[in-house]
Amino acid sequence: MSEPVLSIRGLERTYRTAAGPLTVLRGVDLDLRPGEIVGLIGPSGSGKSSLLHAAGLLEHPDAGRITVLGRDCSNLAEAERTRVRLATIGFVYQFHHLLPEFSALDNVALPQMIAGKSRKAAQARAAVLLGELGLTDRVHHQPAQLSGGEQQRVAVARALANAPRILLADEPTGNLDPKTSEGVFENLYGLARSQGVAALVATHNLELAGHMDRVLTLKDGHLEPWTKP
Ligand code: ADP
Ligand code: MG
Repeated sequence: MSEPVLSIRGLERTYRTAAGPLTVLRGVDLDLRPGEIVGLIGPSGSGKSSLLHAAGLLEHPDAGRITVLGRDCSNLAEAERTRVRLATIGFVYQFHHLLPEFSALDNVALPQMIAGKSRKAAQARAAVLLGELGLTDRVHHQPAQLSGGEQQRVAVARALANAPRILLADEPTGNLDPKTSEGVFENLYGLARSQGVAALVATHNLELAGHMDRVLTLKDGHLEPWTKP
């Protein structure tokens, strides 16, 4: 089997709360293989976001090892961690977090320009990605002029703009009605496939989870395989 793009061992996370320490992750192990699309389920408060934030190098875990494309990133200094994240990982959140004053096209072009691409090249790739998501006639719209499903599609295109190997999505359809959720998820799935990206997708929607390559559930701070009932 090929090397995992993301490997997690013994991940632990405890929050200090007014009511005392709250341990959310108690030794999470995970291997994400190239191109596979893995669902992450678990009740609200089970630690899905905590896991995704640690996996995405956005937060420091209390213990454990996170290896991205073969490189141990557990103890990297902040600046280097950010560099690795921007080069290898795309993130989609429940709320799109698009820049309101920019068009869909520029929201997807901007991260590429920050990474050093010319405006022309960045906009060309943005147009291709948005086209694959069926948004060709929406590229010049601003986020407020788009529906919720369209906004999330733009967020997916933006997450994949710099051709990351890993896509992390935290309840990307959590704000959408079931029909729209299905469409956005199909788009995310199709685009991740066509771009060869491995994805870890947290969702409450078991219907959608059933379509993924495999599904893991967070229970008592550990990951377990989940099978469709
Ligand atoms: P999920 O995404 O599965 O809903 P989270 O990872 O967001 O779970 O949260 C897991 C638990 O940790 C929840 O009980 C939440 O209230 C708590 N939690 C999350 N972030 C913090 C924080 N920064 N400080 C204190 N508690 C937190
Ligand atoms: Mg969450």
